[in-house]
Amino acid sequence: MKFGGSSVADAACMRQVSGLVRDALPNSPLVVLSAMGKTTNGLFTAATAAERGDLPAALGQLKELIQDHRRSAEDLFDDAVPDDLDQGLTDAFGQIELLLRGVALLRELSPRSQDAIASFGEHLSTRIFAAFLQSQGMDATWVDARRVMRTDGTFGGGQPDIEAIRGLAKAIIAPLLGPGRAVVTQGYIGATEDGLTTTLGRGGSDYSAALFAAALQASEVQIWTDVEGVLTADPRIVPGALPIPCLSFSEAAELAAFGAKVLHPATIQPAVEARIPVTVRHTQKPRGRFTTITGEVRTGRSVTALASRGPITVLTVSSSRMLAQSGFLARLFEVFGRLNISVDLVATAEISVSLTVEADVPLKLLIKELSSFATIQVAEERAIVAVVGERLKYTAGLGSRLFGALADINIEMISMGANEINLSIVIKREHEHEALRRLHTALIESNDGGGAA
Ligand code: ADP
Ligand code: ASP
Ligand code: MG
Repeated sequence: MKFGGSSVADAACMRQVSGLVRDALPNSPLVVLSAMGKTTNGLFTAATAAERGDLPAALGQLKELIQDHRRSAEDLFDDAVPDDLDQGLTDAFGQIELLLRGVALLRELSPRSQDAIASFGEHLSTRIFAAFLQSQGMDATWVDARRVMRTDGTFGGGQPDIEAIRGLAKAIIAPLLGPGRAVVTQGYIGATEDGLTTTLGRGGSDYSAALFAAALQASEVQIWTDVEGVLTADPRIVPGALPIPCLSFSEAAELAAFGAKVLHPATIQPAVEARIPVTVRHTQKPRGRFTTITGEVRTGRSVTALASRGPITVLTVSSSRMLAQSGFLARLFEVFGRLNISVDLVATAEISVSLTVEADVPLKLLIKELSSFATIQVAEERAIVAVVGERLKYTAGLGSRLFGALADINIEMISMGANEINLSIVIKREHEHEALRRLHTALIESNDGGGAA
């Protein structure tokens, strides 16, 4: 059971979550928590203030986090915070302060220091929550995820060592689980073999949950959040988005990769490999609607959902001499591989190739490398809008409805995913939200058996 930041934002939320854990006790839940509310953002803000050398701002930000956590703990325990929890919180705040002072002294924030600081969000939320479950008479053990979630040393985006995690989870977590017993641990964070703290990247708690589940051969991964499952579009952009009862693993993976924040893009992979169903549920409406993601492909709807991601950058690489020659694409992609830049969409024409990359890639360096054998055009402030559905490829007339809905919006690039369940377009970022709303009306709300079917 993974609970996101909004699900554990304050004492009232934690009480709600403790009820859900109590109900799940017969099934030996492993409870994976995010940091409370926006704590991770707060820690990042404090760390960057320290890096600027602005220690007062960094400590001011820390003070707010301390107050929030203390207030939640006092609320939760009716002003009688157990001594060991109180001491644990004091120690953790002291360590964060030390780290911030160190960063401010050096004016240097390495990804490694950033991970060390960010990891405290999950440390604090899980310590408070585990103590609360225990105070409620539940058999719950707190396990430091860093003993189990082994990653490589890529700070800010640690790559999990699946074999090691399996062994450690079996040795450390499994013996603490059993009917009537729960384990509470941190999402998002891990450690290298040498014990250095790492993180799995922003939003990584979903990924943690799936990795733990695969390692322990769990019967289900439950992602508890603030929406009734995966919806047909981001409800903050498309207010009429509809819940989706069932999704295939591939549909969920495409949606996550193209921007549906409700799932971390890497979440699905461990679950797919271990054939574990993933459900996405609303913490405040546990008996409401939810989404089940499994390997089964349900037919019946042509377009399942929409997702979008921006800003992204489009590069158009042209070479009249070389494109038709063999080996051009190999040479092109070698550059991206060497600079460790991942490419999302690709479309080729006779003398040019267009591709999309994240907005924050080292563009100057990339252009310098590519310019030695091609001409490069750059278009920034673009967005990808993805239309996802297992039956896309069988749906006649989809293209005309898509183009019709976006008649006055210039579509700069089109790409049909190789698995044929994802049709993506690139447009100017300023049109992203409008395009999503129009496509939702035209492709999902229209009565073709769309979305919620
Ligand atoms: P958590 O803190 O629980 O991990 P997130 O904020 O990471 O929650 O993800 C949940 C949010 O994802 C929702 O509040 C919603 O705004 C957003 N979201 C984006 N796309 C979708 C979608 N297709 N379905 C549901 N939610 C979505
Ligand atoms: N707390 C981390 C973040 O905000 C991880 C997560 O919530 O999934 O990115
Ligand atoms: Mg999330």
